[in-house]
Amino acid sequence: MNFSGSAGAERAARIDVAALRHNVRTIADYVRPAKVMVAVKADGYGHGALTAARAAIDAGADWLGTAHVAEAKALRDAGVEAPILAWLHTRGTDFAEGIRHHIDLGVSGWELELIAEAAEQLHIPARVHLKIDTGLGRNGCTAEEWPALAAKAAEYSERGLISVEGIFTHLAVADEPDRRETDEQLAAYREAVEVAEAHGVVPDLRHVANTPAALSRPDAHFDMVRVGVGVYGQSPFADRTPEDLGLRPAMELRTTVANVKRVPAGQGISYGLTHRTDQPTSLALIPLGYADGIPRIAVDAPVWINGRICRSAGRVAMDQFVVDLGSEETDVRVGDDAVVFGGGSGIAAADWGTAAQTINYEIITRIGERVPREVVDTGDDAEAPGQDA
Ligand SMILES: *Cc1c(COP(=O)(O)O)cnc(C)c1O
Repeated sequence: MNFSGSAGAERAARIDVAALRHNVRTIADYVRPAKVMVAVKADGYGHGALTAARAAIDAGADWLGTAHVAEAKALRDAGVEAPILAWLHTRGTDFAEGIRHHIDLGVSGWELELIAEAAEQLHIPARVHLKIDTGLGRNGCTAEEWPALAAKAAEYSERGLISVEGIFTHLAVADEPDRRETDEQLAAYREAVEVAEAHGVVPDLRHVANTPAALSRPDAHFDMVRVGVGVYGQSPFADRTPEDLGLRPAMELRTTVANVKRVPAGQGISYGLTHRTDQPTSLALIPLGYADGIPRIAVDAPVWINGRICRSAGRVAMDQFVVDLGSEETDVRVGDDAVVFGGGSGIAAADWGTAAQTINYEIITRIGERVPREVVDTGDDAEAPGQDA
């Protein structure tokens, strides 16, 4: 994997759409007969929303999910026709735009009236999914308000202003499969569905599970799962790798070594001089920094260079950080490939999460705009994602 002298991108987040497809199929096989909604919010978890959406649909995903109506609208503008649900709204959300572009709308409470008004003006019924808060304490209708919301939804349905397509909730601790709070959330959810049905609201799609629940709680599958991180080939569990789950990481963050130098013991490294070399050593400069999404807080973080995994030293700066290559004479040269995570490097986004006191979700979604997304397709039979053909 030595690209020296090749005219590759200076830096790239390389996205393997074959891995995305593989992951969608793996999860779909696992949850069948439940349908699969792939979350492509936050620019497809940093992989490119359109790239992720197309790969998901190619692999048989039934639905797409976004947080914002504007994210869903951007997919429509790009020609995506699959069903899309958007679930996080503000007073500034353009519900009319959502209805016009047949985007399904999550409803936690206050939105319902505004959505019904927009639908009335457009003479197009709005498609909504009612959201119950079963314990996450974030979005969603409380159990107390739920009967009133269901009654209101039934009334608007009768008037032809809305059609209730789904009832959903979101889990708080599904990444820790043994915690009883998930059982409590599922019980609260079932009760909410019964209350809605008693009000005459009987939707086709009951959906609860995120990736960790899809992979660990068959009793949470219902009619559809909403999966994000697993589709991108990341494990939602602290103690299981993507490989353990049959998933392939779809993003490789790569660049080339921008400088190499020999320094004596006692050399300070980067702002604040928080690190000093304790022996003569070689340093490699990696031209990615916190403006590119490398967490400034990361220490002792892994980077693959010339077949070896080395460790970062000193503070990550805006545009660059330093890797200590060790005291022995180095064969690393300017222009050699450097892989931050993914590909054949053996480094996981989760390893950077550990180095930066965060999780793989944040590492992949925070890669900056200055890093071009380079879409590759290693083919559906590829064994080793990210290996260069
Ligand atoms: C982001 C999100 C998901 C997907 O979660 P993953 O853990 O990435 O699978 C599902 N449902 C809702 C409401 C979300 O916001």
